[in-house]
Amino acid sequence: MSRSALIVGNWKMYKTVAEGLELATAIKNATAPTVRGREIAVAIAPPFTALYPIGKRLEGSTVALAAQDCFWEAQGAFTGEVSAAMLADVGCRFVIVGHSERRQQFGETDAAVNLKAKAILKAGLSPIICVGETEKERDAGEMRGRIISQLAEGLFGFTSEMAQRSVIAYEPVWAIGTGRVATTEQAQEVHALIRQYLHAQLGEVAQSVRILYGGSVKPNNIAGLMAQPDVDGALVGGASLRAEEFLQIVRFHEAPATS
Ligand code: PEP
Repeated sequence: MSRSALIVGNWKMYKTVAEGLELATAIKNATAPTVRGREIAVAIAPPFTALYPIGKRLEGSTVALAAQDCFWEAQGAFTGEVSAAMLADVGCRFVIVGHSERRQQFGETDAAVNLKAKAILKAGLSPIICVGETEKERDAGEMRGRIISQLAEGLFGFTSEMAQRSVIAYEPVWAIGTGRVATTEQAQEVHALIRQYLHAQLGEVAQSVRILYGGSVKPNNIAGLMAQPDVDGALVGGASLRAEEFLQIVRFHEAPATS
């Protein structure tokens, strides 16, 4: 089954409203729904403060708006939090959950990821559920167990319809922001593992779930990653902060494959 590709830019805690509007406009103006005949969906995840104006700027374009996190309750006395319904209200279509920076620096657990993902789906949006092992876990031979336990808890209670509307992002922690991209073989191995797990739990829907790779994706390594049968797109951090670099990644069919 062919899955449309999805490239998501995670801006993390960068960009003021003015800077974000400039970057979003450049991406919007240069993004077409297909690249060399292949459907490529593009989303950008600005910080919360820039979501509303950037959502307005993206109206009528093919670039989707994503948020970097949310809380699982719909509303209430939760100072500092933002609900999935509020993100839908400002035009988001995707919400990233379980990013390793949130797991490591803000104590986000797999149980929280599960609650958030369910709330995102309930609000009519798609969660981008991040999983990935640390270098220590990989070196100790625990990579497979770590990925499976994150999936088992993060997707607990999911139906196949919920999985179909979700995106999984494999982000090895050792590759995020380090310049150490996973090899194409390492990425394919874990993506295939994720798809096998989804198939074992939920059946045929596994073939239509998009699995993104994240971790030091750059214009010179995206083509090799995208050539892998189970890599359906990318979650891009650092390289999504400059329009030219991000657009080269989006147009990966035209990029040279060097790894
Ligand atoms: C990320 O933050 O999701 C990420 C993959 O970052 P980078 O591309 O900078 O490694």
